[in-house]
Amino acid sequence: MNFKDLEIIQPIMKAVTKAGYSKATPIQYKTIPYILNGNDVIGCAQTGTGKTASFAIPILQLLTQNKATVKQGIRALILTPTRELAIQISDNFETYGQYLPISYLAIFGGVSQVNQVSQLRKGVDVLIATPGRLQDLINQGCIDLRTLEIFVLDEADRMLDMGFVNDVKKILKKIPSKRQSLLFSATMPSEIRSFAHSFLINPVEINVTPISSTAKSINQSVCFVEKAEKLNLLISILEKHSIKRSLIFSRTKHGADKLVKQLMKQGIQAAAIHGNKSQNARQNALENFKNNRIRVLIATDIAARGIDIDELSHVVNYELPNVPETYVHRIGRTGRAGNNGTAISFCDNEQKKDLKSIQKLIGFKIPEYTLTT
Ligand code: AMP
Repeated sequence: MNFKDLEIIQPIMKAVTKAGYSKATPIQYKTIPYILNGNDVIGCAQTGTGKTASFAIPILQLLTQNKATVKQGIRALILTPTRELAIQISDNFETYGQYLPISYLAIFGGVSQVNQVSQLRKGVDVLIATPGRLQDLINQGCIDLRTLEIFVLDEADRMLDMGFVNDVKKILKKIPSKRQSLLFSATMPSEIRSFAHSFLINPVEINVTPISSTAKSINQSVCFVEKAEKLNLLISILEKHSIKRSLIFSRTKHGADKLVKQLMKQGIQAAAIHGNKSQNARQNALENFKNNRIRVLIATDIAARGIDIDELSHVVNYELPNVPETYVHRIGRTGRAGNNGTAISFCDNEQKKDLKSIQKLIGFKIPEYTLTT
């Protein structure tokens, strides 16, 4: 469906066209009309399906069409679990809203709050925040959410997983009860659905793909390999497929750092992003990866959540995740926006039970890796 059939206002249409989008994706054309209509929405969509635009575009439109009730104040809040996602969402708002007089700010921990606070003082219409920093700044009296019109909980499953549930509950108490609420998640376990129903009013539920399914555009395979052989296997895969850019998932921060050292020793440029790295180091690693200065980015789940990297051809699970939904998120970093992708998972003896639960969740047996994969 074309964006213009969704009755998107001209300044946003112009920005969307400039971004090169011709058609709305399923989550976009199914969700946008309800959001524009003022409904609460639960959106369940795979990663890489255009989920961010499905809320950013109608929010921009609603904020433009509805006059602010007070002159200054935060009108929309997007809560998201990680710093990278906060930045990414704010970049999306900037792209789609470039012809609108609406201001955005992403706030997150790990960096000084000084700039964030001075931006807030100037006035912000759309605030994109991680829960910890938001709570901090609310407690310091730098943020007042009484003017809020729209609240978005992004990556809700992960948010609750990462122990943010109490923060989210506290934040919910500080926003007006008369508001529009939207909840997005790639997976929808039953506890998320019941949490969602506790703060959404008559939500319209939109599922664009079967729950927890993985994108068809991703060629998945599994390699049964002993721990000691993983490094050699990884190097040979990187070489055999002449992989220009791959994202490798490690379960631990220590494991990620160790793998970087081992690959660098073999002359393969690599960097790690995880929770112990400073925000600057994380952004640098990501920039170097996007600019092809490093071929391999090694990430733990926390750091890699939701990251959008164009032309990421390969994801490798150096270790399988022990939470099956995480597998769906990890491999969803590739095969995005109509491109094809490859996801190769290493499975040692101890992880066979994890593989079983993943296969149960995605509803099929992942084929074994072969040389032609
Ligand atoms: P997301 O699921 O929000 O992380 O989006 C995944 C990618 O799809 C991002 O790179 C977006 O810029 C891109 N994208 C979003 N909507 C569209 C669209 N309608 N057409 C083409 N690409 C899109």
